[in-house]
Amino acid sequence: MKLTCFLPLLAGAALLLSPVAQAAASLPNPAAEAAAAAPAITRVDPTFWWVGMKNPRLQLLVHGPNIGASTASLTYPGVTLNGTRKLESPNYLLLDLTISPAAKPGKLSLEFQGAKKTKFSYELRARSTEPGRVQGLSSADFVYLLMPDRFANGNPKNDVVKGMKAPGVARDSMYARHGGDLKGIENNFSYLKELGVTAIWPTPVVENDEPRASYHGYALTDFYAVDPRYGSNEDYVRFVRNAHQQGLKVVHDVVLNHMGTSGYLVQDPPAKDWFNQWPTFTRSNFRDAAFNDPYVSQYDRKQFGQGWFDRHMADMNQANPDMANYIIQNFIWWVEYTGLDAYRVDTYTYSDRKFLMDWGKAVLDEYPQLGMFAETWVQGTAQQAYFARNIFPEVDGFKSNMPGVLDFQSQYAINEALTRDAGWTEGISKLYYTLQTDWMYENPMRNVVFLDNHDVSRFYSVIGEDFQKYKMGLAWLLTTRGIPQLYYGTEVLMKNYSNPDGKVREDFPGGFPGDKTNYFSAAGRTGQAGEAFRYVSTLANYRRTHPALHAGKLMQFIPNEGVYTYFRYSDAGTVMVMMNSNKDEKTVDMARFAERLNGFSSGTEITTGTAVTNLQSVKIPGRTAWVVELKK
Ligand code: CA
Repeated sequence: MKLTCFLPLLAGAALLLSPVAQAAASLPNPAAEAAAAAPAITRVDPTFWWVGMKNPRLQLLVHGPNIGASTASLTYPGVTLNGTRKLESPNYLLLDLTISPAAKPGKLSLEFQGAKKTKFSYELRARSTEPGRVQGLSSADFVYLLMPDRFANGNPKNDVVKGMKAPGVARDSMYARHGGDLKGIENNFSYLKELGVTAIWPTPVVENDEPRASYHGYALTDFYAVDPRYGSNEDYVRFVRNAHQQGLKVVHDVVLNHMGTSGYLVQDPPAKDWFNQWPTFTRSNFRDAAFNDPYVSQYDRKQFGQGWFDRHMADMNQANPDMANYIIQNFIWWVEYTGLDAYRVDTYTYSDRKFLMDWGKAVLDEYPQLGMFAETWVQGTAQQAYFARNIFPEVDGFKSNMPGVLDFQSQYAINEALTRDAGWTEGISKLYYTLQTDWMYENPMRNVVFLDNHDVSRFYSVIGEDFQKYKMGLAWLLTTRGIPQLYYGTEVLMKNYSNPDGKVREDFPGGFPGDKTNYFSAAGRTGQAGEAFRYVSTLANYRRTHPALHAGKLMQFIPNEGVYTYFRYSDAGTVMVMMNSNKDEKTVDMARFAERLNGFSSGTEITTGTAVTNLQSVKIPGRTAWVVELKK
């Protein structure tokens, strides 16, 4: 599977990204000429495929020294070679195939006639009929975001993999690998279940063979390989299957915008326009406003979409249809191969607009039930909704196919609610106003709500390590609309500000050999960390078994004197949430909530078990959230 060790042989290819080197590439290349004498296929992407896919077309990207000079042919019942195409680099050939519904699984022999004849055996597999694959994601789920490198080390033998560019593990460096892996996550499935989690979202598990700081996973170097420091491809298939058997879904984190510069497609690009090129290194301006600003300058728009995310992250040019097709097929491949349940799409706003529409459509055409949500780290609901399926007509040539988005707007709002005094629109009123703008979405219940993630300061630090505020935030997260997502360690009060990022990506205590503290075990969760875990676990498990909190409607009331009250309700029940953002106790006259309270005579606050016997008037302590199941 892993063929990147071959790459250093492609002398000078890495320099193709500069215009000077591009010119040099057309000069005689002794290495390529030598290779041409012994033609070989180094890889074919997709690495294998299936019979019986909805879309019968398949495009193979064949890579090998001077393979572009060859003529390809194949003979296989039900499979037609429609054509081949040379690319700018002599080391590639594109093959367009049609796989008819009648084709059977098997090994297809591809023949390449150049100076010498070369054969390549390409596998067409049968689609899996295993139950429980590709379950999708819904507001019934509770997603746990973790960094595989930093969560738990289940197999110290894969910490250092020979031939990979990064030096060994160094747990005292926030930029180095720490040794966590898929096995480590699997070893702690029971912990996640106890917490009430139903879906695991690891940051990308795909290979990041970069020399530095690639532990986060967002600098993909091989689109078809799991990073061997996490496990093998087959280990990942087993990981998804085991998760499913435990009642846990898997969210696969994908990057469409850029790839690591050590990747073979960057080192030996099929054509120079597979990546956006600049005369000198140019970063994106990171301003998504330039995607759809009606007054945008082409200068700003180009830099936003075509500037590089970072020095070691090459910006992919998805306006090139071959590159676009390469990525689309890859993300169909991962679903079919592993049975994963949902995609989380990184840096969604940075990609080419037509590509984003085509990618979303192609993936959902093949798997309508697949869950999908995108990173939309933007300002304002209008901008966030623009990148989701929404009620707007096509704007400026763009209409997103993304079912849901990571709801940064409500994350800003909950942070403000717990750190600023209430005003007409400020403080806790911001939660109310933020949800009010949900009218723009096709379905806001598909948005993923969160308190923190791997890119922002940890929630517990942001709220000044105030445990009362912590409980308010968690109560909101697990009862508001949408799909709640928790960042690993927030349930045991991990803290820090994201400056630098590594500060909020520390090892989970207990996940690594020699850890003195073990928060994975109930006995190890002493003090407030244990109290926090129990609070989250109580709420999450209540949520898991109470459909009113996933399928139920939401009704919110205008916050009054810093107290915000909303209801989740359905035929299955009614839950009232009341958040008092004031320091002091408030007496709340419940008369204005009559349209939801009618028919109920009492309630139980589910995190404490306290009975609420008077629904006419309540006294709620300062900095408190009540989650009250109403009773007739
Ligand atoms: Ca390991």
